[in-house]
Amino acid sequence: MPFDFSERLKALPPYLFKELDRIRDEVRGRGVDVIDLGVGDPDRPTPPYIIEALTRAAADPANHKYPVYSGMNSFREVVAEWYSRRHGVSLIGDTEVCSLIGSKEGIAQFPLAFVNPGDIVICPEPAYPVYASGASFAGGVPFFAPLLEKNGFLPDLKAIPKDILPRAKIIWVNYPNNPTGAQASLDFYRELLEFAARHDLIVASDAAYSEVTALPKPHPSVLELPGAKERVIEFHSLSKTFNMTGWRLGWAVGDATLIKGMGLVKSNVDSGVFQAVQFAGMAALRGTLEPIESMGRLYAERRKVIAEGLDKAGISYLHTDYTFYVWVKTPRGLSSAAFCSKLLNEAGIVATPGNGFGPSGEGYARFALVQEADRLREASQRLASLRF
Ligand SMILES: *Cc1c(COP(=O)(O)O)cnc(C)c1O
Repeated sequence: MPFDFSERLKALPPYLFKELDRIRDEVRGRGVDVIDLGVGDPDRPTPPYIIEALTRAAADPANHKYPVYSGMNSFREVVAEWYSRRHGVSLIGDTEVCSLIGSKEGIAQFPLAFVNPGDIVICPEPAYPVYASGASFAGGVPFFAPLLEKNGFLPDLKAIPKDILPRAKIIWVNYPNNPTGAQASLDFYRELLEFAARHDLIVASDAAYSEVTALPKPHPSVLELPGAKERVIEFHSLSKTFNMTGWRLGWAVGDATLIKGMGLVKSNVDSGVFQAVQFAGMAALRGTLEPIESMGRLYAERRKVIAEGLDKAGISYLHTDYTFYVWVKTPRGLSSAAFCSKLLNEAGIVATPGNGFGPSGEGYARFALVQEADRLREASQRLASLRF
């Protein structure tokens, strides 16, 4: 039937990873042994004690009903305990925590609660595409703040034009950053909070990678700063921390009004997270930190392996303690597309072209360290033999 997609839908760029999958499959179809470092989906399985908690809870008929929209009280309490244990931040589970069906749903839908048509949402770029698409779906207008190497891939707040600020409602930040791997300091967060207070902005922080590190401590949360809670909502997820991308469990924490708005949107469009999945999440958050530590070590080791190949090929990249990404600068000023197609065609390596995350990603590519070390060693050797 000749139905037209809505203007809203037509205005979106194609979702990056669907296109990548298509090209990878095409090359694989030609019989190439492809090493896929494209999509940021952890390759290792979910730890067994989390799966056991799910299985137990799934067998209990008490969990076969609709859950509470904003999450079981016990789940929200466990998230509050987690923030206290990991960040020294105290939160009230009842009003300052909301469960999410993965943080993506929260990030996509949060603007519906606070953005009116024509309001501006300040989004970083290059970035996870959902900040901008969520803003657009709510009738908002994304304003893109470039993340540049010379600024450590932090937004230059002073460079945001003064005339857009009266109409701006939300500023998104994402540290540790996808795609660059950049980290933020509490000093940056202090500057961000002052900026947001001056211009009456909501700070929306996506902390999906705060636990993906070999360091003994998570990446700092903006909520660690005094007074932050009044204007901050922070999104988190079990996906990357505990290898649970398919399970769909995350949360939002922060100011009670922001959390209430998020919950009101959710109660109109979804019916919450399967309680058995929430029980599994509680087992994860209450359990030992061993899975976090061992995944951190694993990614650090993989980073070393790929770094050897990059160094030999004379390709530079951002050094970071967080995420499982390597943000690579294309050699000899190649475009992202030219570099990635050379990698795929001459080395059978899938990387994500940096410009797919936004125009300032042009001249870069992202490697996701989601293959075992022996495959990365192979990738590393293939990289080292390339001539640019
Ligand atoms: C993976 C990812 C998320 C979303 O994770 P969920 O599985 O939806 O919880 C959010 N933000 C960034 C930057 C990500 O890379």
